[in-house]
This record gives sequence, structure tokens and C-alpha cells, in this order.
Amino acid sequence: MLADSADTQKNYPAGTIIMHQGDAGDCAYIIEKGSVEIYLENADGTIQPFGTRGPGAMIGEMSLIDQGPRSATIRAVEDCTLLQITAEDFSRRLDNADPILRMATDVILTRYRDTLARSIIMKEAHGWPPAEAIELKHSQKTDAIESIKIANEFQTALDTGQISLHYQPIINLQTGYIAGFEALMRWEHPEKGMISPAVFIPVIEESGHIIQASKWALREALLALKRIEQNTGLHDDLFMSINFSSYDFASEDFVDSVYSTISESDVDASQVHLEITERLLMGQPDTAKETLNMCRKAGMEISIDDFGTGYSSLSYLHHFPIDILKIDQSFIRNMLEEKGVMELVKSINSLGKNMNMHIIAEGIESEKEASALREIDCDMGQGYFFSKPLPEVEILPLVNRWKKFEF
Ligand code: C2E
Ligand code: CA
Ligand code: CA
Repeated sequence: MLADSADTQKNYPAGTIIMHQGDAGDCAYIIEKGSVEIYLENADGTIQPFGTRGPGAMIGEMSLIDQGPRSATIRAVEDCTLLQITAEDFSRRLDNADPILRMATDVILTRYRDTLARSIIMKEAHGWPPAEAIELKHSQKTDAIESIKIANEFQTALDTGQISLHYQPIINLQTGYIAGFEALMRWEHPEKGMISPAVFIPVIEESGHIIQASKWALREALLALKRIEQNTGLHDDLFMSINFSSYDFASEDFVDSVYSTISESDVDASQVHLEITERLLMGQPDTAKETLNMCRKAGMEISIDDFGTGYSSLSYLHHFPIDILKIDQSFIRNMLEEKGVMELVKSINSLGKNMNMHIIAEGIESEKEASALREIDCDMGQGYFFSKPLPEVEILPLVNRWKKFEF
């Protein structure tokens, strides 16, 4: 009943070794018929029985989490029929599962792996059983349940207006004028108060809600841009930068959907900047390249977010159609204290320029940082020094009175 067409059944006559302690673990099994015994082989050659398993039990399940060596030997006690499950089968099934189920399984497996890793360290340090491991399990369980609750509540939050966008101005460092905005999601939860996007974005990515959330955010941000233009008289000059995740890129109608939202909102495609991370590019280089090329062709600009934190290899840069590099705030935070960091910022800036890209420095918190960046000819910057992310009602008056930022 559990099997599908891709599954393999295997027969093991009584007495055969199904897996050997120390061998590489490449698959798990479900016992359909027969029974097995599990035992540990000690270094001194003695054997330590661990238990027996019969029909319906799963054995070798750790290989679905990581392909580490088998931790025990398993032998068929009677003739057995086993259903083989490879790690690949497992992730294929998980991909097709209900999003909540997929997320719960992912979270639980990750926690299980962490707990095991920590238990091994603690076993070595404190002997067995480790009291800390038991406490850990409890808090980890709460984390997993909390994530599932957040995912479940997100849909209602989106439907009832608890989700909103804040906009952070991005400043042209050479002129002091506002060049555009980054849209950042906010969740005002009725009981929990403000939930940070750093907390809920990863959760809704796992649950699959991110796709709908990103579509909502794009539409909302572009309509806001249109209103900002109408209320300030700044036409076609400002851009709106929106964050997208690899999950968005993996959805089939991504480009069509983005494009139709742009058309409906009546902003120029060149005013729309898609912010993605290096991780996304490296994770799915071919699809990402194709998707980005289509977006570029349609007139949008592509920004690489948190640049410098993901992958040390710069060789991929020319492979993708990239318009903007956003230097991660960790560099800006340390550049005035550490000469090496300042050199890195300068290098990223000239590298980007040489490749015809614009550069945005993130997380500028002081006038000193802003001036230093202006001096090295960095194009744009954003950060608390200029303005924190604000709701649209506060952005409108800010743009109207802004004109030029003096520093
Ligand atoms: P991010 O894209 O790197 O966004 C910049 C973050 O830095 C924002 O945090 C912003 O409020 C914060 N920030 C801006 N200026 C300063 C500064 O001067 N100093 C410091 N310390 N921080 C500054 P926020 O809004 O909490 O967002 C956190 C992350 O959540 C974002 O990082 C982004 O990865 C993600 N995120 C937010 N909104 C969305 C969204 O609509 N879609 C997606 N996929 N991700 C989003
Ligand atoms: Ca961003
Ligand atoms: Ca960033």
C-alpha cells in the first residue's frame, strides 16, 4: 500500500546481512515481510543485540537525513521482503507532499539530526544519558510547533491586513536625492506584536506561502510607488526594489506574473528592481539565468542582495545579467574600524563599476560612513542614517520635504 511505481522491492533470504555497521548509508527500507535483528559490533569483536523489527518497521532511516555510515548491522532473521527508499525518492515524495507536512518533516528531521550530533558530543563529554539532550528536545519541539503555527496563521494574516510593507529610501550618495525604495514586509500580529521578517520569511518559504506573499508584495509596492509619484510630482525617476526568494523563482509562472503585475500597476518596468541573493544564483544557476534574462528583457533591473556574504567565488558574476550589487551591511558596519574591510568595500565597488553595475551600500548608520562611501564613488546607499523603513503614510511627507540630503 505504501509503494508507488518508482519503488524497488528486494528479497533477502534468512541469514543475509542487509546492512553492515560502518558501510555508507545510501537508502532506508520498510519491512514488508519477515523480520530482522539489529546489533552493534564492538571494537573487541563482541556483539551487542539492539532489537528485532518486523513488518511495517523502517530500518536504516538515518540515510534519509544524511548519508553517514550505518550505525549498526542488520541481518534477516527469516526470509524478508523489503521496500527500498533512497534519499532521492524521499525528497521527491516530500516535494509532492502537502506544504505543511513538508515543512513539519523538514523541521523535525533537521532538529533530529542536530540533536543526534549534539548527543554524540555530549555523550563523549558527560557519559550517557545526557540530561541536556532531553531539555534540548523539548525546546526544539516548541520551535517546530511555533513555526507550524506561524505558517498556519500567515494566510489569515495576509487576508486580514496584518501584513504590510515598509519602505526604506535608497539615496544617491553623490547628489543626496532619493533614488528609490526597498520594500520590506512587516507582520503586526494581534497577540504577538510585530514579528520580524527574519523570523517569518524562512517559515513561509518552507510552507509555500511565500509565493502568494511575494505576488502580494510586488503589487502593493508598485501601487505605492505610483501613489508616491502622483503625490510628489517625481515621475518615472524613482525605483522600487522588491525581495524575492528561490521559492519564487522556482514557480513556473514567475516571469508572467511579475510582468502582468507591472503592466497593471502602470509603472515602467525599469523602475522595478528584483532583489535576489547570491545563494539563489548558485543554487539553481541555469534556471536563475534564464529567468533573469527574461526579466531583464522585459526591462526590469536585477540586484544582488547581501553581496559578499554568500559565496567567495566572484567568477559567476559575469554569467548572470546583474545590474546592481548591494554590499552587505556587515562590511559597512566594520569598514571604518578595519582597514581590510574598507579595502574590500573599495574592491567590490570598482569590480562592480568595471562590470557596468551600480553599487548600493546597505546599513549606513552614520554620517562618517556615508561620506566615506561618497568619497570612494559608491553610487547609492540606504540605512538608518538616512531613514529607517517607514509605512507609506510617513514616506509621502518625507519625500515631499526631502529634496536633497546634506552630509
Ligand atoms: P534585507 O533584504 O537585507 O533587508 C535589509 C534589512 O536591514 C531590513 O531588515 C532593514 O530594516 C535593515 N536595515 C536597514 N537599514 C539598516 C541599518 O542602518 N542598520 C541595521 N542594523 N539594519 C538596517 P528587515 O526589514 O528586518 O528585513 C530582514 C530581512 O527579511 C531582509 O533582509 C530580507 O532578507 C527579508 N525580507 C523582508 N521583506 C521581505 C519580502 O518582502 N520578501 C522576501 N523574500 N524577504 C523579505
Ligand atoms: Ca533586500
Ligand atoms: Ca540586504
